Amino acid sequence: MSGFQVAVLASGSKGNATVMRCECGIVLVDAGISCRRIAQGMQKLGLHPENLDAVFITHEHIDHVKGLETFAKKYPVPIYASRGTWQGIRQTLPRLDLKLCNRQVLAPQTEITLGGLQVRSFSVSHDALEPAGYLFRSKGHVFGYVTDTGYVSDVVKRELEGAEVLVIESNHDPILLKNGRYPPPLQKRILGTRGHLANETAGHLLATLQTLPGQVFLAHLSQENNTPDLALNTVRSIVMQQHPKANIQFYVTSQDEVVKNKEWEDYHEQNIFE
Ligand SMILES: [Zn+2]
Ligand SMILES: [Zn+2]
Repeated sequence: MSGFQVAVLASGSKGNATVMRCECGIVLVDAGISCRRIAQGMQKLGLHPENLDAVFITHEHIDHVKGLETFAKKYPVPIYASRGTWQGIRQTLPRLDLKLCNRQVLAPQTEITLGGLQVRSFSVSHDALEPAGYLFRSKGHVFGYVTDTGYVSDVVKRELEGAEVLVIESNHDPILLKNGRYPPPLQKRILGTRGHLANETAGHLLATLQTLPGQVFLAHLSQENNTPDLALNTVRSIVMQQHPKANIQFYVTSQDEVVKNKEWEDYHEQNIFE
């Protein structure tokens, strides 16, 4: 048991939102789909946005903040982001009333404790003002979240060491991207060090961890330059080459479908049969 129930409500360049529940709390990472979709997704999990202890935003791109305007109006839940991300959000969402927002600042490389949940923010490399990934620790369990990063620094690798559940970006296949219809400047942006992670890079990141996670969500897949099978097979084969006995449960996330780990099913079964 990982100790974390993780449900990726949506993932990809059209919108990102993930719900994580553990013994110490319930959080949302990114609000890049409409508030209505967030509420509907949570309802299917037996939850309501008011059950959230906090929201953590990785960066200001619209696919990570689209639902915030309505969310902040309706729910007084604290919303954490870096100072730079808040600045960026002013530009991405000019109509967001920051006074209405329960706005909290969490700088990269710092952490906070919410009840028994420790949350650490760390810097990633992306073309946003001050983008971040997050680590959540609860009762000795660790959950890591990192998407929208052009590469994975040694610092990030160290941060992710020991996580039992990971959401990591597996954005594109470089050959599909190069042969695809994206214009060269966009290709360059995606492939650059402040762009997005290739399938291979996600695989190598996992393979270099000292302790492999038990569950990995492959996230932010490009709908143009990747396929779910290609992402899964590429990442898995790189990990298996170096760790033939690796036993990782992979989940491939989707732009339109909720993808959740087995802890949700176990939780629902317990609650039905108890
Ligand atoms: Zn994104
Ligand atoms: Zn982005």
